[in-house]
Amino acid sequence: MPLLPPTDRDLNKEFEVIRSRKRNLGQPAYTCLSMQNDSHDAVEGCWAAPLGNCGGGISHEHLVSECLFKDQSVFVQGLDWCLNKPKQVRIEKLTGKILCKNHNTALCKLDAAAGLGFEAIRNAVKMNEDRAKMLYINWAHQQFIIDGRNLERWFLKTLLNFSFNRKLIIGPGNHSAGTVPEKLVRIAFGLDNFEEGAGLYTAFRPRETFILEDRFRFTAKAQGPNLVVGGFIFRGFRFFLNLLPQRLEMIEGSNLFYRRANFAWLIGNRESHRIIIDWSASKIHPYVRRHGA
Ligand SMILES: [Zn+2]
Repeated sequence: MPLLPPTDRDLNKEFEVIRSRKRNLGQPAYTCLSMQNDSHDAVEGCWAAPLGNCGGGISHEHLVSECLFKDQSVFVQGLDWCLNKPKQVRIEKLTGKILCKNHNTALCKLDAAAGLGFEAIRNAVKMNEDRAKMLYINWAHQQFIIDGRNLERWFLKTLLNFSFNRKLIIGPGNHSAGTVPEKLVRIAFGLDNFEEGAGLYTAFRPRETFILEDRFRFTAKAQGPNLVVGGFIFRGFRFFLNLLPQRLEMIEGSNLFYRRANFAWLIGNRESHRIIIDWSASKIHPYVRRHGA
């Protein structure tokens, strides 16, 4: 079924806010566990050290939150150990000594919040599959709201997990390779904001396919020695985290939408449902907004 291009239209309308009665989208019980297993590729230290208050020791942590993508492989590309082609790694093997216990615990809620965003994407893509099989039903319109700011912070956290103590300079500038500038640490912890133009983008190409596959991809994009953009793919949705303080318009032949965006699916000639990446407030709990009946 066709998916309309996203728009940056004003999202500050008042909608009736209700939890979906049809689908159980309650908050999943995410847990944060420290990994004690050996990693083939361990690194030392805590990337949040510029904030102070490190404590509890450094433990092995997952580079990609395992609780969000259970029993899966992740494709990674662009780092020193997977520079030119994607490398497939089991998520449970992808660990490193990247955060102390205190700072890892402080980011736990962020994993839960991002998990709700990925759940919304899963549900919207699944809804498209389900509804397309029953065109004769007059489906109620549904909206899936994703908290853009939390999703942006989670992508930044994941980018930092991957690039900490590695060979690229993280972000613009000429600080030491593999170190995390304090500003980026503060943004990841929700204490600061990106400058205009930096932050989260969604990419869209006409006739783009969105798939049920649950796999997650991360690509580090460098400009000379600097890691400047992180690319993330989930269920066919492409997100880019720009670390440069300038607007990007296109990437890889796709239009880019800065922060707020809408993705609407058509079933027959009616809009069936929509994903909204919302920037109006930081929300921890998911909700589904529905209008029409
Ligand atoms: Zn720490």
